[in-house]
Amino acid sequence: MAELNPFKIAQAQLDEAAKHLGLDKGTHEMLRWPMRELHVTIPVKMDDGTTKVFKGFRVQYNDARGPTKGGIRWHPGETIDTVRALAAWMTWKTSVVDIPYGGSKGGIICNPKEMSDGEKERLARGYIRSIGTFIGPKKDIPAPDVYTTPQIMTWMMDEYSNITRYNTPGMITGKPPIVGGSLGRGDATARGGMYTLREAAKIKGIDLSKATVAVQGYGNAGQYAHGLIEELFGSKVVAISDSRGGIYNRDGLNFDECVKIKLDTGKVSNIKGDAISNEELMELDVDILIPAALENVLTEENANNVKASISVELANGPTTPEADIILHKNGCYVIPDFLANAGGVTVSYFEWVQNETGYYWPLERVHKELDEHMTKAFHAVHDMREKKGVHNRLAAYLVAVKRVVDVMKLRGWV
Ligand code: NAD
Repeated sequence: MAELNPFKIAQAQLDEAAKHLGLDKGTHEMLRWPMRELHVTIPVKMDDGTTKVFKGFRVQYNDARGPTKGGIRWHPGETIDTVRALAAWMTWKTSVVDIPYGGSKGGIICNPKEMSDGEKERLARGYIRSIGTFIGPKKDIPAPDVYTTPQIMTWMMDEYSNITRYNTPGMITGKPPIVGGSLGRGDATARGGMYTLREAAKIKGIDLSKATVAVQGYGNAGQYAHGLIEELFGSKVVAISDSRGGIYNRDGLNFDECVKIKLDTGKVSNIKGDAISNEELMELDVDILIPAALENVLTEENANNVKASISVELANGPTTPEADIILHKNGCYVIPDFLANAGGVTVSYFEWVQNETGYYWPLERVHKELDEHMTKAFHAVHDMREKKGVHNRLAAYLVAVKRVVDVMKLRGWV
């Protein structure tokens, strides 16, 4: 189905931005397609003595603003069009937070849940040998994504360093700190989202120390968001959920207790409070909504029932285009995904800067510089919204695409 193809969706989003920016045909066409892509076939010796052959991809979407940057996914359902779409979205994400990168993405069709550590290591090293000349700290810098971990990043860094014959930590980010990773990467996505929330609250006149919050999804992004919103602003999280349902407590949900119960029992519904569904959570009478789980949870079916004044999209793609228009009309201030969750790639950029300079930052510097990047990006998008009278997602697209176009023009590409 054409409309569910993520790359078609990414192209349609670009088309809308191109219309508003009045892009000429050549510039628009250049941005509709990846600049380069590599398809590789990787043989891996399995533990049982057989050889299994894996397919992998690396897509470099646009490198006008700098070396391309994007994670590597390991997934049985990986497709080239998913990788293309994610590479396009990375181009807009690095542009909206104004870090000097283009966008890329990689993927391997595999099921890591069925592979031993040895098999994963051989696959990671084989992939890097296959794409080695295509990537590099000055060309294209991978990172973790779905089912790839700091350990996998370390094997990839080691293999690349074997190829170059010198230690090259800056060829990949998301490494553990002892092999060149940055401090502050763990909570960077949620923390970056919190900085944008602080700015949105000022605009909406909301006192965050008195605000109530609902968080959908209780994994990496959702848990850090719960802890940080309490720590930074003193807001009260009254509802959280995971794939098996949610819990509501009007007196507030204690962060340490929630994390412990989730860790011990695997579900948040064991926490004290009233059981609610994920659908009910989205419609709660709270000030702040934080979608941190799945895509398409705010649609034309439920957008009119949303009572929150601000939605901070830590998840990718939680709001459909129809819901965007409804929420905007109803005065809900949506901080769109590729702005709200750009803290992760921003700290990845700091990691690369530290690797390339050989000077490692204290945590306070990471937080301060992340705050500066996110705050500046937020206001660039807000100003565009005011100038053009469009909703925030479109405003973020206009900011991001325009920056790439301006550089392409100066460089004489279009
Ligand atoms: P995760 O796997 O750690 O957690 C996902 C959470 O969502 C889990 O608690 C899971 O139970 C819950 N969930 C799954 N299905 C659900 C459902 N039907 N209803 C409600 N909850 C459900 O993932 P994560 O890293 O926290 O990522 C969450 C979202 O944030 C994704 O959209 C991801 O793309 C986005 N994101 C994450 C990062 C990051 O640094 N972790 C960066 C950018 C974007």
